[in-house]
Amino acid sequence: MTTRQIPLLLEGRFQESQSRERLAIRNPATQEVLAEVPFATTEEVNRAVAAAKEAFKSWREMPAPARARVMLSFQHLLKAHHDELAEILAKETGKTFADAKGDVWRGIEVVEHACNISTLLMGETVENVAGGIDTYSIIQPLGVCVGITPFNFPAMIPLWMFPLAIACGNTFVLKPSEQDPMTPTRIAELFLEAGAPANVLQIVHGGRDQVDQLLTHPDVHAISFVGSAPVAEHIYRTGTHNLKRVQCFAGAKNHMVVMPDAQPQQVINNLIGASCGAAGQRCMAISVAVLVGESKNLIPHLAASFKELRPGVWNDSGAAYGPVISQKAKARILELIEAGKKEGAKCEFDGSHINVPGYETGNWLGPVLFSGVKADMRIYQEEIFGPVLLCMEVDTLEEAIALMNANPFGNGCSIFTASGAAARKFQHEIEVGQVGINVPIPVPLPFFSFTGWKKSFLGDLHAYGKQAVRFYTETKTVTARWFDEDIAHSAPNMTIQLK
Ligand code: NAD
Repeated sequence: MTTRQIPLLLEGRFQESQSRERLAIRNPATQEVLAEVPFATTEEVNRAVAAAKEAFKSWREMPAPARARVMLSFQHLLKAHHDELAEILAKETGKTFADAKGDVWRGIEVVEHACNISTLLMGETVENVAGGIDTYSIIQPLGVCVGITPFNFPAMIPLWMFPLAIACGNTFVLKPSEQDPMTPTRIAELFLEAGAPANVLQIVHGGRDQVDQLLTHPDVHAISFVGSAPVAEHIYRTGTHNLKRVQCFAGAKNHMVVMPDAQPQQVINNLIGASCGAAGQRCMAISVAVLVGESKNLIPHLAASFKELRPGVWNDSGAAYGPVISQKAKARILELIEAGKKEGAKCEFDGSHINVPGYETGNWLGPVLFSGVKADMRIYQEEIFGPVLLCMEVDTLEEAIALMNANPFGNGCSIFTASGAAARKFQHEIEVGQVGINVPIPVPLPFFSFTGWKKSFLGDLHAYGKQAVRFYTETKTVTARWFDEDIAHSAPNMTIQLK
């Protein structure tokens, strides 16, 4: 049987790349090769940008309500194919079916928001800024926008980007993660089926070379990137050096503060889901529990609960988590776990060497719990991106806040407490962009924006919501005066008579 080749979406149709460089897409639970993804040629990337540039001329003229109608049909199709998309996603990422459905759903919500584009594009007006003069702003699209996405949310993150960008009147070139391109490909098929005109969306595949070509291409106006911190720095520097508008959502180290008055069972349930769900491969996963005072007594209970978690393949409805994405990712996580042990952190539970009967070749890696972690340890300083929870014990809320504010990342955090005053202090003083109060993973819905801070975000305007509309558009401010004959006659001293 021949292996499925992932096509490019180029010039309005799915077509096979001429590239010889290909990467196998494997099911992380079985190593079965699901497909091969091409690394697009230089000529193909140029064609994608050229087609998007050409399509922009007519798409920007499409009335905003008509663009919104495409998004409405797209939203309908995504919902109708929700299970199918989740199955494709689960097979190529290893996520459980429930988790995969959540990934798709969070993307659908952004498309729903894009259906409201006419309202989102409203400008502002001030009448009579001077006698008879009005000033108003109009919001216009930029041109060709580019999205570069990570492996861990192959539905949600492409859907953070291209629907809003395109609804704003731009055209878009998507470069999905080379590790799981099947989900975005199916999503793009549904987008065309929804009535999106040819060429408003192009998809090229590849890695660094293809991305660098897009970052430096003279016809690309804006770059939206989500991925690891070192790559984000490269994208931000190169993109802005080439005078592009750039937003980069990068890595994280998310803390949950547990106050002694928090409900113990709530803390345990929420910490487990937030640290081990999706095998810890979420940018908003909690990877550090900051235990204040007596809450350190929860550690043995956490260890016992970690022991109960069962891994499984995507359609095992009792599985708490699936395999990690690749052997390479697994090796890196194992190496960091060993580093933590060597550096003196206490390993309270080590489930890293687990296996799933019948699926012995899978990239399985079970939960690991450390206590006594110090800020200078490598496991604290680096993003692990696996099901590893670090416990740090402190005496006061002030100490917890100081520890977290010294951390270079600032994506998400949370506090579990029964005290409104503690929560209010935390919310006010913490230098992190997304805060949960008795909510472990505070990802905002799309009418807000996804507002990571510090090293977790490079740029000014964030993903989705009003900020994304600003990111994907320019504001034009018009100052207008109309000469009215009656007004001219009533103010003769101010008019110049033309002969
Ligand atoms: P990654 O940085 O390895 O890859 C992301 C994208 O960049 C991919 O499309 C990849 O092809 C491309 N890429 C990789 N190396 C490149 C290079 N040298 N030059 C140019 N492009 C390159 O990230 P990943 O492993 O796919 O995803 C996981 C990371 O993404 C984690 O660090 C996670 O925290 C982060 N993430 C952040 C958010 C957020 O909102 N802050 C959301 C999801 C994921």
